[in-house]
Amino acid sequence: MPIGSNTKQAAELLGQGDLVAIPTETVYGLAANAYNPEAVLKIFQAKQRPAFDPLIVHVHGPEQAMEVADLRGLGEDMRRQAEALMARFWPGPLTLVLPKAKHVPDLVTSGLDTVAVRTPAHPMTLALLRSLEFPLAAPSANPFGYISPTTAQHVADQLGGKVPYILDGGPCTVGVESTIIGWDAQLRHWVLYRPGGLPVEEVEAVIGTVGRASRSVLPASPGMLESHYAPRKPVHIGNIAELMLEHAGKRIGAITFRNRYAVHALEVLSPQGDLAEAARHLFAALRRLDAGAAELIVAEIFPQEGLGAAINDRLKRAAARRDPRAIAS
Ligand code: AMP
Ligand code: MG
Repeated sequence: MPIGSNTKQAAELLGQGDLVAIPTETVYGLAANAYNPEAVLKIFQAKQRPAFDPLIVHVHGPEQAMEVADLRGLGEDMRRQAEALMARFWPGPLTLVLPKAKHVPDLVTSGLDTVAVRTPAHPMTLALLRSLEFPLAAPSANPFGYISPTTAQHVADQLGGKVPYILDGGPCTVGVESTIIGWDAQLRHWVLYRPGGLPVEEVEAVIGTVGRASRSVLPASPGMLESHYAPRKPVHIGNIAELMLEHAGKRIGAITFRNRYAVHALEVLSPQGDLAEAARHLFAALRRLDAGAAELIVAEIFPQEGLGAAINDRLKRAAARRDPRAIAS
């Protein structure tokens, strides 16, 4: 099994146009040289990802970000804000969608004239990025639409045969994907594309109110796909006691914040009631319930604050496949 911690081997593979799965603080990524379209194509093939779903470009810092983004056409205010966000939150779980530099291949951005960029906070991957002469395009290292991996073993379980090397950096410390915000040139303000590992409140403390994207405003941004991050089993969200009544007689797997219920399989994400801990445990819990003997998965709605916003977002998308009502906004 090609799992290890040899960043040199990883760098060699990436340099010759091969894929490497990389650890980050959010989830594991499936990385390729962002400047090599043939290498990037392998990501789409391995994940069976549709070409309309753009990738995030991982850089070792603001300087390299300015190599993939081109902020020249933008106002001074917005440039200053982008720089302030990078200085404050990188390395960390914040992705910025910025105007793209010409030399970034269209395949990376699905033909959009913007590029998503971030610096991950994982020592192994940061060291790898610093050793390379190119940035890494990397989406989450899972088959398209399925739950993102938060351990090297999760990657091996699903993509093992398709990835020459998995860099094992231990379990992810944040556990949900990055928060994505982008500059909307028409509206002339920042917009939240995807809630994630950095609470949007913290972003707003630096740049003021961030717009909440409505579907009509969004570019083709598949983090916005209704059904995503989804287990194979049906997922229902709401009041657990009511859902237990509704599905009486079936083997129920339940995901809760801190409460316990007498169900077939129970995943309490944080007995102490800590939303960051709950986020860290969410995807592994979903995977266990998906793999076990439960017939369906029920989940409660988390407090919509801090990392709770990202947890609720992922649960709604996991539920969307079977229950289109689950995602009303
Ligand atoms: P993943 O890393 O698998 O979560 O996928 C990256 C996500 O970033 C995509 O699904 C999009 O939602 C988002 N993204 C990447 N590039 C852009 C962009 N240029 N504009 C808007 N969203 C983007
Ligand atoms: Mg993904």
